[in-house]
Amino acid sequence: MSIDICAAFDSGNIRVVDIDGDRVDLEIVQDHKSEFYQWFHFRAAGAKGRTLTFRILNAGGAAYAFGWPGYKTRVSLDREVWRQTETDYADGALSFTHRFDSDVAWFAYFAPYSMERHHDLVARIALMPGVTHRTLGHTLDGQPIDCLTMGDGAKQVWIYARQHPGETMAEWFMEGALEKLTEPGDTGARALREKATLHLVPNMNPDGSRRGHLRTNAAGVNLNREWSSPTRERSPEVLAVRDAMDASGVDFAMDVHGDEAIPANFLAGFEGIPSWTDAHGEKFYEYARRLASATPEFQLDLGYEKAAPGKANLSMSTNQVAERFGAVAMTLEMPFKDHDANADAQFGWSPARCKALAHACLDTLAGQLDEI
Ligand code: ZN
Repeated sequence: MSIDICAAFDSGNIRVVDIDGDRVDLEIVQDHKSEFYQWFHFRAAGAKGRTLTFRILNAGGAAYAFGWPGYKTRVSLDREVWRQTETDYADGALSFTHRFDSDVAWFAYFAPYSMERHHDLVARIALMPGVTHRTLGHTLDGQPIDCLTMGDGAKQVWIYARQHPGETMAEWFMEGALEKLTEPGDTGARALREKATLHLVPNMNPDGSRRGHLRTNAAGVNLNREWSSPTRERSPEVLAVRDAMDASGVDFAMDVHGDEAIPANFLAGFEGIPSWTDAHGEKFYEYARRLASATPEFQLDLGYEKAAPGKANLSMSTNQVAERFGAVAMTLEMPFKDHDANADAQFGWSPARCKALAHACLDTLAGQLDEI
């Protein structure tokens, strides 16, 4: 039997360079019309009883190659449980081995979140009492931008994810958030639904997700650089969400992402926006402090550098939303590696932990909403 490598499925990404004995040489395919790449997701079959060595030869040219040291590839035999496997990065190549006790195995940069699973999630949540589903717009490939709204309070809360489609942890987070918010007996969720109207967009980049992109949509555009002037031609996803925000207003916003390099969960704020005041910023810092004291899955030491006064990039959603609406806005980053302060050697940062972190984020918001 010959080795079969395949990525021709929803969110798949890999190209075979060469198969020589037990060595499989691969490359990650660039995002369409873009030079970004780092997301990979493929299936290997026909190697039962053998130990294969996979080498991703172009890892060194990936968008965030500095993120590879300390990273571990995720492997699954059933596409449900994704475990870490020992991974090396040397001479620009990422390599890992797998002993095939099964006929088929799947490999990915992080536990995938397919568009089929997205539709399952939207269907399930839209059926829950008190939930309204809206299609805010369509992508260039014709896919819907789904928004689920619940609660009837005055505060307008927006939580949106996966502008960068390879950051699948962001949609696992949204699944956790939507499950909690629709749980009738959950105290924090009930408080939020009373005081706020919550708008959740679980996937802002369905085209990049289905195409197996790291960072861009079907036009090769990085959506998180489009928030100043989104267009129908380049970034209809952002235009749709920003128009809906203009209609509702925004008091609190969280943009959910993944980070390739930093082994921790962290928040980034809106320092450097033209209308910055310390009082506005303090509401964000207070949220971060409360979240850190609420869960060992969050910390305040590691993160991005803050923009200098007046230097915020308003094409990024958190800055745009903070400036445009005066919202307490933030970007949540979760690791492709692990949250090292509370590490899990077997799974690393994982879907279950994404969902638990979403619960903690919502409870923290429930406790602070009156001050926002
Ligand atoms: Zn991102």
